[in-house]
Amino acid sequence: MHLKNIAPNATRMRRMLEVVRGKGVEDPKVLEAMARVPRELFVSRALAVDSYDDVTLPIGEQQTISMPSVVGYMTQALGLGGREKVLEIGTGCGYQTAILCRLARRVYTVERLERLSQAAQERLTSMGYTNWIAMVGDGTLGWQAQAPFEAIIVTAAGPRVPPALVAQLAVGGRLVIPVGPTEADQRLLRITKLEDGGTREEVLGRVVFVPLVGAQGVAAKG
Ligand code: SAH
Repeated sequence: MHLKNIAPNATRMRRMLEVVRGKGVEDPKVLEAMARVPRELFVSRALAVDSYDDVTLPIGEQQTISMPSVVGYMTQALGLGGREKVLEIGTGCGYQTAILCRLARRVYTVERLERLSQAAQERLTSMGYTNWIAMVGDGTLGWQAQAPFEAIIVTAAGPRVPPALVAQLAVGGRLVIPVGPTEADQRLLRITKLEDGGTREEVLGRVVFVPLVGAQGVAAKG
């Protein structure tokens, strides 16, 4: 049997946060929230040894948990103050959801794959988070009944920004989303809704995400 010689969790967490900080995440509130969410609880036991490394890891159903540095960077880009209604598209394993729960008033999270959503909901409940609501469905259409949102985060990439998500942003709200024609050519965007109803778009960097599958994203296979 191969046993990886690993440091105690607190040490691994500290190292992870150093790496995340080194990659541009300086907001103390974001770092504090990340420090309180053990990433190992969101992956299978076999992957727990790697869970504090700055890597993506498989979470089943051909999906992945994002790198901690990317989770931190996207969260920071949302500019949360604690009072926001946040919409998250791509619940996945629920790691990003847990961090958002610590930084916002309420998190509405949408996942298209039932099994991932169920597992994430069980985790969030067992960890004691209560300020979230999960839905299984196509997040490219947003969550019209709960709009508008002060912040929207999308953790899968499609060819364009879904218009429904821009429409569901509150004035002054921020949408952070990876967009690109192919997996090799994606950019992280921040779109801010202006008072006149228009938007401002900023390119935050290059990223690699799994496909955003849906009516205003990539077509589902098969
Ligand atoms: N934030 C997640 C990332 C998971 S990967 C985590 O940390 O685990 C992206 C997720 O987006 C996948 O679970 C995928 O099934 C989901 N997804 C893709 N297209 C979607 C859509 N249109 N609506 C909702 N979820 C979607």
